[in-house]
Amino acid sequence: MLDLTPIPAFTDNYIWALSDGRHCWVVDPGDAEPVEQWLAARGLPLTGILITHHHADHIGGVDALQRNRANLPIYGPQTPKIPQVTQVVSPAAPVSIGPWQLEVLNVPAHTLDHIAYFLPADTEQPGALFCGDTLFAAGCGRLFEGTADQLHQALAQFKALPPATLICCAHEYTLANLAFAKAVEPENPNIDIRITQEQCKRAAGLPTLPSTLALELDTNPFLRTQSPDVIANVSAHSNQSLDEPIATMGALRRWKDNF
Ligand SMILES: [Zn+2]
Repeated sequence: MLDLTPIPAFTDNYIWALSDGRHCWVVDPGDAEPVEQWLAARGLPLTGILITHHHADHIGGVDALQRNRANLPIYGPQTPKIPQVTQVVSPAAPVSIGPWQLEVLNVPAHTLDHIAYFLPADTEQPGALFCGDTLFAAGCGRLFEGTADQLHQALAQFKALPPATLICCAHEYTLANLAFAKAVEPENPNIDIRITQEQCKRAAGLPTLPSTLALELDTNPFLRTQSPDVIANVSAHSNQSLDEPIATMGALRRWKDNF
């Protein structure tokens, strides 16, 4: 049985830990210390590290975690920006960790080296997507290196996954993202319901993650660029008549950049 935990790091990062009760893998350890504390509290060894992209708040803890752990596998994309990677992965080279096989999705957008890991559902648990900074709860990552077209293609891959898929993002940005979602779609009742639910979780000191793809499809404007309301409101905000999805995605992302 998969145990899936978001380990808080820095001010708003999550380092996802996957465990079968005897082994543990972590995704994007930007800081080693919270991972070491989490492992020690549970008496678990670190079995491997998965990386989605090269930003320091995702790989900054890798060197310290590698120290004193000979042959620790570090899975990640092919890029000179992450020299710690020992096992290059790609859609043609999925990742086997313990009993699970993770599919790899190429999602260049936030950064050009960005990949995501998808764990398909089985009889015991829903699937899970480790999407780094590509998709957030009710939002998406900034386009530091890629284009709106690439973001559209990346999110289209996510939208094609089963709706019950758990969405494991790398930051707790949900409430701020929902404020933007509400500005984009003031008439969407699912956004109001979600704001209340997520506020309750944060007030109780709980993470808002994982989300589900079904919830994102209902409330995340970046997954709703086909919605007539989203197209109309983004068109009005950007003073242009948007009639195709990539232009809508670009204008929506620029709106959020300045929100
Ligand atoms: Zn990033």
